Amino acid sequence: MNVHEYQAKEMLARFGVPVPKGGLATTPQEAAGVARELGAPAFVVKAQVHAGGRGKAGGVKVCKSVDEVQAAAQAILGMHLISHQTGPEGKLVRKVWVEAATEIARELYVAVVLDRGAERLAVMASPDGGMDIEEVAAATPERIFSTRIDPGQPLWDFQCRQLLFGCGLDAAQVRQGTGLLQALVELATAKDATQVEINPLAVTAQGKLVALDAKINFDDSGLRRNPDVAALKDPTETDELELAATELGLNYIRLEGNVGTMVNGAGLAMATMDVIKMAGAQPANFLDVGGGASEEMITKGFEIILDDPKVEAILINIFGGILRCDVLAAGVVGAARKMDLKVPLVVRLEGTNVAEGRRILDESGLNFSVAGSMSEAAAKVAQVLEGAA
Ligand code: GDP
Ligand code: MN
Repeated sequence: MNVHEYQAKEMLARFGVPVPKGGLATTPQEAAGVARELGAPAFVVKAQVHAGGRGKAGGVKVCKSVDEVQAAAQAILGMHLISHQTGPEGKLVRKVWVEAATEIARELYVAVVLDRGAERLAVMASPDGGMDIEEVAAATPERIFSTRIDPGQPLWDFQCRQLLFGCGLDAAQVRQGTGLLQALVELATAKDATQVEINPLAVTAQGKLVALDAKINFDDSGLRRNPDVAALKDPTETDELELAATELGLNYIRLEGNVGTMVNGAGLAMATMDVIKMAGAQPANFLDVGGGASEEMITKGFEIILDDPKVEAILINIFGGILRCDVLAAGVVGAARKMDLKVPLVVRLEGTNVAEGRRILDESGLNFSVAGSMSEAAAKVAQVLEGAA
């Protein structure tokens, strides 16, 4: 789960990481009010969306006066911020964070990330922080230093010194930076974060380290034991179809293609994505309806698939075990009637009550084709789409 920059900064502050003072606003007037209250010589107005690259997209503006803050908030609020992380449709900005501006001497990059391959946390630092860290990673990866934390061990001071002297900091800054990196690790460990990234970590004109940006990603599986983190979820940042599926207890992930899929079992669902791709088509979603799905859940799941305007064909691949084929068929027929199914449907059914399931589909008057195997099902979907195109 992602959170906004302002939420990440509030959490960093709780772990002792210095962040600029600021406040949240949803209107230009509110933004001006926050700035007036801060009473700083300069301010930064920042779009709060779950995406990086805001600076280059016009979502971060440094302002010299309260009036400038109001104008910047006017420009940023309501904009569709388009960056390399948002996709072409961009992200609607509903909130801005207004903070006291920092006088920057240098911009560093620091991060704690879960290194899944190594099965431990990794800590990274680079002297070349700021808006082009992706380029640094691509062109001069030797300018990004990293170290790993042994399970059950803290991040030791000597590891921090290696990273921070590497970034060219002086002794006093290395001392401050050591506490800061250790705080990031404490946060990641305590809150089940898979990524805590500060870019830029500013060295101020006064030589102090301050986190000017913050991105934290939390492990969804840890949310149950971190209710304070779960409470930070912003529903406007979650895909509405995924949100609806979660409420139904369905395992649904939206993808880029045009073949809607309904499958039981995560393994079979992944295999189905593979055969669709091998047949030259692209899945529009992953949907594992699970073993214990009721007819109502199937109906709702099918509706969610059809609610995606990208879907031009549907493939149902069910191996009836605990989920019976007749329940599946009844659910699909119910949804297809209600939603006025217009896209072609390919069904591959096997297992418990398969004859009854086929009978329900046959007698429904629905227009669908039956496939005997998975690869045949995928080939049929690809064919139908080609025919349409
Ligand atoms: P991002 O583009 O989404 O990563 O947004 P950031 O929060 O990192 O801001 C982008 C850039 O704005 C930073 O790299 C800084 O150069 C600049 N910036 C952010 N805060 C301040 C500030 O307080 N003072 C100044 N002078 N620049 C800032
Ligand atoms: Mn940044």
